[in-house]
Amino acid sequence: MNPFIELGIRHDIVNAISELGFETPTPIQEQSIPVLLTGSNDFVGLAQTGTGKTAAFGLPLLELLDFEENYPQALILCPTRELCLQITNDIKNYAKKMGNVHVVAVYGGAAISDQLRQIKRGVQIVVATPGRMLDIINRKAIDFTKVRFVVLDEADEMLNMGFQEDIDSILSTTPEEKKTWLFSATMPTEVRRIAKKYMNEPFELTMGEKNTGNVNIEHEYYIVRARDKYAAFKRIVDFNPDIFGIVFCRTKIETQEIAESLIKDGYNADSLHGDLSQQQRDKVMKRYRDRNLQLLIATDVAARGIDVSDITHVINYSLPDEIENYTHRSGRTARAGKTGVSVSIINAKELGKIRQIERGLGKRFVKVEIPTGFDVCEKQLFSIVHKVNSVEVNEQQIEQYLPRIMEEFKDMSKEEFIKRFASIEFNSFLDYYKNAPDLNAPVEEGRRFERSDDRSSDRGNAFGGSGKSEYTRLFINLGSVDEFNRGDLLGYICNQTKISGRTVGKIDVKGVYSFFEVQHGDVEKVTAGFKDADFKGRPVRIEISGEGSSESRSGGGYPRREGGYSGNRERSGGGERREGGYNGASRERSGSAGTGFRDFSGKRREDRPERRRRF
Ligand code: AMP
Repeated sequence: MNPFIELGIRHDIVNAISELGFETPTPIQEQSIPVLLTGSNDFVGLAQTGTGKTAAFGLPLLELLDFEENYPQALILCPTRELCLQITNDIKNYAKKMGNVHVVAVYGGAAISDQLRQIKRGVQIVVATPGRMLDIINRKAIDFTKVRFVVLDEADEMLNMGFQEDIDSILSTTPEEKKTWLFSATMPTEVRRIAKKYMNEPFELTMGEKNTGNVNIEHEYYIVRARDKYAAFKRIVDFNPDIFGIVFCRTKIETQEIAESLIKDGYNADSLHGDLSQQQRDKVMKRYRDRNLQLLIATDVAARGIDVSDITHVINYSLPDEIENYTHRSGRTARAGKTGVSVSIINAKELGKIRQIERGLGKRFVKVEIPTGFDVCEKQLFSIVHKVNSVEVNEQQIEQYLPRIMEEFKDMSKEEFIKRFASIEFNSFLDYYKNAPDLNAPVEEGRRFERSDDRSSDRGNAFGGSGKSEYTRLFINLGSVDEFNRGDLLGYICNQTKISGRTVGKIDVKGVYSFFEVQHGDVEKVTAGFKDADFKGRPVRIEISGEGSSESRSGGGYPRREGGYSGNRERSGGGERREGGYNGASRERSGSAGTGFRDFSGKRREDRPERRRRF
């Protein structure tokens, strides 16, 4: 018998998921489906992304709801538009062979009118990001009084993004007796707190060790000097000719810079970040999904929830500030039982942070040496050999050219031909990598780490926090007409200024402008971050609001780590973080630019052969 039938899922759903290739339930599905199918429990599932969570709650929902009725019976809240669309799409696919199942995706950055129309037509399952959901509730355009199930997916991330208050407001419109199912990759105190607040003796399920990442992910790190970071990164990519990767940077600007440099250097790369229009983002994602793009350079927020199969490498070009973000990043690879590698390129000062992440995940990271130029050439050569061996020949198309090709090579021996053929790309690598220096930085374990590392270890324990609570209210000339909701605006501000979302206070999105609160100590950083910034060709203006500062809202507000964060932040000084981040990288690159954009081989980067247009 099909194991999903044994779990209690009916035939038409099982048939649909069989077509998706679901033959056996994943561990989380196996354990949670029977519990959720009873429909009588609140539920907390501690599960990494990529473990089959969506079907774990989606299949039971399809069993439990009454699809003869056309009112909202289930609400799924998730942090990002991408995840929202993905869940909607997945559930529609599971329900493909059922009748009258209506699932609507509600998210910011798209026309609200379409979403309202779909809701009006009748819907049983609403999948939503909190900001837009609240907007629709405030317009009194949806009735949640008969909702039976609420799913909070990636709850940790929703809290990270400051959605606590929105979630509170949304849930207050649903009935007391509904069941709440919460899924989270990590279980920080805030998530524990909301589990306690919204749930009644929930059934708890932990897949694997608490906070342990996917076991199929190998974690590696390379230690390089800051100035060699970009060269080292390229060498890692070159050493992995079939890489299909996501490269994480900390800021929008860094993603853009890295993507631009890579494109200039002949790599097949593009960037994904919050400042792109929805259309641009969709376009980049389509190219990536279709594997017409080999390297996606992304910010944390933009890449959240991306489910693309067969990603081979996650590369942390800059380490994230939070262990949770590292888990989310690395979870983009090794999905659905596959294996993958999460690579961090660090400088010696960041080793403390690696140790901290290791402790958090309960996993040992492997230190790997940056390959030598010779290693890269050898790897590339055998990749070419392998490709020649396994290439699919289009007999029909090539036939007409064969006589001419044969004529051309008629006097060449097989050995000579193979040698020359393999040399076509190999030569360019040989040329590029001749005299390539060793990029591994010397490092002594146990050395004193700089304040940036100490700071982050403080931060790891800084949940909750209290202390400093004064905020400065800032004006920004962007608002809902620019298709920002609060979450989007928060992401944009953080990307632009490198301040953490948790330190941002209240955000009021108006029509053509908005207000947001930041800690006093961050005001300069915010104004500097927006200096010369423009949004779709319009200069972005930041001003201190005339209304003065406001008190932090205690409890129930945006989850902040006021005490821990602001204190640490101030200690570190504004510029320190930038050393290892964008500014450092930028300086490093402009250093090369100073020598006419020449690489260590002496060859102009632009002169490198165009390659990897497709792979
Ligand atoms: P999720 O954690 O829900 O994002 O799922 C991660 C990936 O695993 C998605 O691409 C799913 O389509 C896939 N998946 C989920 N359940 C199964 C299953 N039982 N068998 C095979 N693939 C699955």
